[in-house]
Amino acid sequence: MSVKIGIPKTLSYYVYYPLWKKFFTELGAEVVVSDNTSRPIIDAGVKETVNDACVPIKLFHGHSLDLKDKADYFFIPRLVSVDGEHIYCPKFLGLPDMVKNTLKDLPEILAPRIDLRKGKLELIKVVYKIGSVLTKNPLKIYSAFKKAKAYFKRFNSLLSEGHTAVEAIDVLEGNEERKDFDSQEQERDLKIAVLGYPYIIYDPYVSVNMIQKLRDLNVEVVTADMLTDEELTAQSHKLFKEPFWTFSDQVVKAGYHYYQEGEIDGLIHVTAFGCGPDFMVGKLLNLGAEVEDDISFITLTIDEHTGEAGIVTRLEAFIDMLRLRRKRA
Ligand code: SF4
Repeated sequence: MSVKIGIPKTLSYYVYYPLWKKFFTELGAEVVVSDNTSRPIIDAGVKETVNDACVPIKLFHGHSLDLKDKADYFFIPRLVSVDGEHIYCPKFLGLPDMVKNTLKDLPEILAPRIDLRKGKLELIKVVYKIGSVLTKNPLKIYSAFKKAKAYFKRFNSLLSEGHTAVEAIDVLEGNEERKDFDSQEQERDLKIAVLGYPYIIYDPYVSVNMIQKLRDLNVEVVTADMLTDEELTAQSHKLFKEPFWTFSDQVVKAGYHYYQEGEIDGLIHVTAFGCGPDFMVGKLLNLGAEVEDDISFITLTIDEHTGEAGIVTRLEAFIDMLRLRRKRA
């Protein structure tokens, strides 16, 4: 029977799941994930986590509980830096310790420290360390990682075409057809940037399926993932100091890119209650919007009690306001 590696379906799942899934399965393991986010998963996480943790961290605990009896190992990498420059939010750094010290009876946690500020060799060392749980053959590990990188590249191409992370995973796994967003572009009368951390905007439950709801309202949606690294880096000069944290940096630069491009009608910043870095991100996006007369900006804050009706009402009001303004203009 193959070893089962458990990956909670939240946080870095929405960024790196295809990479790790391909890597582990190539090495003969079975990858299992927790169920989709649901009210019981959120409630279980809230019950176990300290009050002042942000919603995504509470959710991670809920997903870990859901998964704990289904896996032989948990894979919770200690993500520090993958671009050698920016750092993940401190909650990511302490995630394996938080989970281990909060929840009981968990399987063994594989928590490799991923800090590529130490140079290119570090990646090889980390990959070997992770793979050696399943085999001591370095060639096999190298070959599995090479295939995983190619698979991950396909995932990122799907994101850049406009698929959400969930859709992209479904396309890769053969559960969904690839969408042709270019053909739908002409039919949509508004274009809106939805910016926020991947585990907030792509989790259908947490985000109340916001991206699909906007598409259903005939809106073209753009995200940070649809931009290249070069397009994001080109915004650096507008910042007195770049945001320190990886996802915060991406969100701010994506916002500035879309403001500069001038082709969006509005920008929605989706944030989680209790997120420290987002106080600064929200402010920077808001300041950017203030200098753009014709781009509207709203912040939607998600917390553990967020109901679908409240978010949908605000979304619809925002869209109605944009259409009315366009009509008047
Ligand atoms: S960036 Fe914000 S939402 Fe994400 S883990 Fe850190 S504090 Fe929580």
